[in-house]
Amino acid sequence: QARLLFPLIAIMRVALDLQTSGALFARIFEYLDLRPAIVDAPDAAPLPVDTSRLGEVEFERVSFRYPDARGEERATLDDVSFTIEPGQFAAFVGPSGAGKTTVSYLIPRFYEASAGSVRFAGRDVREIDHESLVSHIGIVSQETYLFHATIAENLRYAKADATQEELEAAARAANIHETIVSFPDGYDTVVGERGYRLSGGEKQRIAIARVLLKDPEVLVLDEATSALDTISERAVQQALDTAAHGRTTIAIAHRLSTIVGADVIYVVDHGRIIEHGSHAELLIAGGAYARLYAEQAAEPSATGQL
Ligand code: ATP
Repeated sequence: QARLLFPLIAIMRVALDLQTSGALFARIFEYLDLRPAIVDAPDAAPLPVDTSRLGEVEFERVSFRYPDARGEERATLDDVSFTIEPGQFAAFVGPSGAGKTTVSYLIPRFYEASAGSVRFAGRDVREIDHESLVSHIGIVSQETYLFHATIAENLRYAKADATQEELEAAARAANIHETIVSFPDGYDTVVGERGYRLSGGEKQRIAIARVLLKDPEVLVLDEATSALDTISERAVQQALDTAAHGRTTIAIAHRLSTIVGADVIYVVDHGRIIEHGSHAELLIAGGAYARLYAEQAAEPSATGQL
């Protein structure tokens, strides 16, 4: 019976570790179905905690097809290769459906590559004990799931033994402390379903505070597509800049304004990386990125964002 229970517990912990979003919560059940494909290799081992390569993420000729995709459809990711060095800020951009979010799913091994190798700290993710792998990855995704519990409890999902001082330091850095103390019960305010309703921007900043408490080597940001108002947007962006500082950051971006400063930008189209480089290099190249940038600059809704 312990054998049966263990995966469930592991899955729940993975979910909590990754600052579960509503979408990810649904994914737990997908994950259950996928489990036979996601067993650790017999010799899977935890990552050493002291390697200088801990923030390194590499795809080597990775192809991927969703298990439920029909046979004749082409692969969602097709022969994708890149190496992100520890501490780099890398961004993935491209049209809707290109495969950007899928890249982010393969890193914590929500899904496994159909071909090629996804490596973390120089090791194939299939050879890394899964719990150890996800302990080094933080995700701020499009939707933040908050449990029906106090704000303090929601923050402690990222670090169970965090002191009140640590919670407040993380909340300050995430630009949300002042907001929390303005609530009726401060850090003891109950949020989530049927609780105190937080705005989208506030929820995102709670998610960022969780990441700061977790302090992972790699941060994955799946940018929200839904627009926040300008003030909230700025508060979230500042918090993200703080969270990205000093760790590998992989940003899935819809608005190019948030990633112009990236060390490297990968342009994804139909599951392939079609160009990469810095913002300046890609503009000079005059290819897909330059066109995307010009398009966004011309959109009235993007005014002030570029
Ligand atoms: P967006 O900018 O709209 O978020 P994206 O570039 O992040 O798009 P992905 O979410 O990675 O794109 O999706 C890539 C392709 O895979 C799409 O065609 C999508 O419909 C498909 N896809 C995504 N999730 C699944 C799934 N669970 N099962 C089958 N196909 C999927």
